[in-house]
Amino acid sequence: MLRLYNTLSKTVEVFKPLNPPQVKIYFCGPTVYDHMHVGHARAYVSADVLKRYLMFKGYDVLFVQNITDIDDKIIKKANDEGVSWDTIVSRYIEDYYDMLNKLNIKVHIHPRVTTHINEIISFIEELISKGYAYVAPSGSVYFNVDNYPYYGELSGKLDRSEWGQEEEFLSEKRKPYDFALWKSAKPGEPYWESPWGKGRPGWHIECSVMSSKYLGAQIDIHGGGQDLIFPHHENEKVQSEAKFGTRPWVNYWFHVGYLTIRKEKMSKSLGNVVFFKDIVKGIRPEVLRLWILSAHYRTPLEFSEEGLDIANKMYSRLVSAVNTLKRLLLEVEPINYLTDEDIKILRNISLLREHFHNAMDDDLNTPKAVSVVYELTTMVFRDLEPKPNYASVLKAFTLMKEFNEVLGILDQHIYSGPTDELINKLIDLLVKVRQRHRELKDYETSDWIRNELMKLGVKLMDFKDKSRWVIEL
Ligand SMILES: [Zn+2]
Repeated sequence: MLRLYNTLSKTVEVFKPLNPPQVKIYFCGPTVYDHMHVGHARAYVSADVLKRYLMFKGYDVLFVQNITDIDDKIIKKANDEGVSWDTIVSRYIEDYYDMLNKLNIKVHIHPRVTTHINEIISFIEELISKGYAYVAPSGSVYFNVDNYPYYGELSGKLDRSEWGQEEEFLSEKRKPYDFALWKSAKPGEPYWESPWGKGRPGWHIECSVMSSKYLGAQIDIHGGGQDLIFPHHENEKVQSEAKFGTRPWVNYWFHVGYLTIRKEKMSKSLGNVVFFKDIVKGIRPEVLRLWILSAHYRTPLEFSEEGLDIANKMYSRLVSAVNTLKRLLLEVEPINYLTDEDIKILRNISLLREHFHNAMDDDLNTPKAVSVVYELTTMVFRDLEPKPNYASVLKAFTLMKEFNEVLGILDQHIYSGPTDELINKLIDLLVKVRQRHRELKDYETSDWIRNELMKLGVKLMDFKDKSRWVIEL
């Protein structure tokens, strides 16, 4: 059974869906006013692994990740560049989709705020009619926090002095901690018509509206980075509970820890971001994904060259193990007899499956799960490669595929077709030819083969008695 940490209860709980086998997940996506950075990558990869693991366990998952395409930061960037807000938005949505694609993240629905303005207006109207919101003289609408009794419950901020919101609207709000649902347009700002005049939605309302539109009035899991707990998720929670009368509105709150650089949170406001587009010039997206999974999603993850190096070596090892298994599957004869040793290996492979699932069930302990995958590669090189038997090789390959369904880092190698098989064999052949030259002490030719392979993106790694290769395109 999967156990998940719930920010609301601050404990690890057994996961029980509202309507099994369905699981509805809403994860807060980006505000598209700049390039995606490694912190975004961490949050979205963590949510993706949660989604993948639930799907793997047989749940019918619907996963929604929104795009905030109108916001103060977008308007500011557009003004700074002298272009329209939607020029900025198109540019960075492209960047966001590109990152998801490269990181092998698949989202069912990417709702955008500006295509849901009517739904947002209706939602706010209902909050006003129920007495939870009020219209200020400017035409802005605010949530009346004092009228809802459970404010602060999610973040644990129970004292009014801790309820800081945007300072900008202090003069017209009834209480400093009331937050904007609708912001009246200032001159020159983009706007939409509403019953309260020209304006645009506040930030928090969009997630309540778009999640309920696609997932209903109650959600199984709602997530985001830890920095979203307050005020964003606190505000989303009260306005949704107030409108729908459902408590809890969200059953499990899932929050991903900070990505740090020199022990500080990586964020635009601190100016210490490493952009995704830049990092993937030097390393494969799969390696970044693996590195992200090498830490538990709730702990801080420190960005370091050393960490990425370790992930890179691990990735090469995984690729090499997959290629070895695929080769063995073709080479090894069907079997009619297993030795006691073979049976032991077969059992040990099954045990790894159990360990992997135990780790993932334990609040998605991916570092532990990755170490189980490492153990499988050890078995491939130590037990199967020198003395392969078909049953164990097939079992190990199937298990590697299962692990990959959850971790999502080896698709390219696992799902390659027959031509790729031939290519693998040809590379193996070249590696053997090079080995012959080395044995004959013809180092000039052996180095030449190595360099030519390198130019094609095939990297050789020499070990004591053999060479392994990995494709690094
Ligand atoms: Zn949100």
